[in-house]
Amino acid sequence: MKKVKLGIIGCGIAAQSLHWPALQKLKNEFKITAICNHTEKKAQDFSKMLGGVPYVLDYHHLLQRADVEAVDIALPIQLNCQVTKDALEAGKHVIVEKPLAANLSEAKMMLDFEDKYSLVMMVAENYRYRSIFHRVKNYLNQGKIGEPYAVFWNRFVFIDLKNNKYAQTKWRINHQYKGGFVTDAGIHYIAALRDMFGNINHGIAFTRRVNPNIGEIDSMSFQFRTDKNIYGVLNTFNSSKGYEQDCILISGSEGSILIENDKLTLRSEEGITFEEVIEDDQGYKEEFEDFYRGIRLGEKVRSSFYEGYKDLQVIMGAINSTSKWKNLELK
Ligand code: NAP
Repeated sequence: MKKVKLGIIGCGIAAQSLHWPALQKLKNEFKITAICNHTEKKAQDFSKMLGGVPYVLDYHHLLQRADVEAVDIALPIQLNCQVTKDALEAGKHVIVEKPLAANLSEAKMMLDFEDKYSLVMMVAENYRYRSIFHRVKNYLNQGKIGEPYAVFWNRFVFIDLKNNKYAQTKWRINHQYKGGFVTDAGIHYIAALRDMFGNINHGIAFTRRVNPNIGEIDSMSFQFRTDKNIYGVLNTFNSSKGYEQDCILISGSEGSILIENDKLTLRSEEGITFEEVIEDDQGYKEEFEDFYRGIRLGEKVRSSFYEGYKDLQVIMGAINSTSKWKNLELK
């Protein structure tokens, strides 16, 4: 099958350190034919990294090129909707970085693109493609822990201007979308939870701003229920000093699954029944493979705009639900 001629819009952290390594593993599937960054230095640096791929400073010029049939959009979130629209109007297939849009009304407009254009469009939500979560889904389907009824995810990290390259990007410091890091990072966890346990349709969250330097809010505890009647708590705390953890506990009628980073443990009443370390390169390669199959084989992509919209709806719903706390006073 022919390689997809790909243009990359936005030459920042995601393009350089996440997409490029994945695309290097897919040399038979993609040929990067042009790149764009509005500031020249980054465009030049990325072009050099790619071996001299031509660059432009205005993405409209990239969209006019006949040697670009698909675009990878890795821009500040607030640009996703407009640039996606322009790309589709120019007849290009689109993979756009998560979250789908800066707000739900723009995300809704993007949902409508699925009916309007017969082009492939997907949101680059890599957690939907992570092998560790696929393994968990298989185990759940095989009944390894009986009927799952609860999930608890603790994600404690310390992100600060001094230690984190993401926090240093201007558009994250002055973010034009609700929720700061809670939205930016939290949307991954929502995508994975929805994928494994069903749609999240009820819940209430508490949020907090611990570090004013990294945005409007940085911490959230969200209690929810899915349409498969699974209850859960997602704790996503981005200003956790002195303690970091990425741990998911799934409780089932016959046992539990514990995921700590890339280690998966199955337990029953008797104790540990099985342990494995999963090779998980975070799903970046797999999401581009899905994009490729969508374009060349006409397959339905897994991380559709619909799924991206639902992810955003949940995280926005969680953040907005904080106002409901006052109705829950314990008398
Ligand atoms: P970033 O480093 O700031 O990259 C964005 C790039 O876009 C910058 O190089 C910026 O240039 C450029 N840019 C801004 N406005 C532009 C315009 N109008 N035309 C062309 N270029 C423009 O941010 P990032 O961390 O890569 O994030 C980009 C996207 O990837 C976001 O949607 C983010 O949520 C997503 N992301 C996803 C993951 C993941 O794991 N899936 C991880 C990180 C980021 P200047 O900096 O010179 O302004």
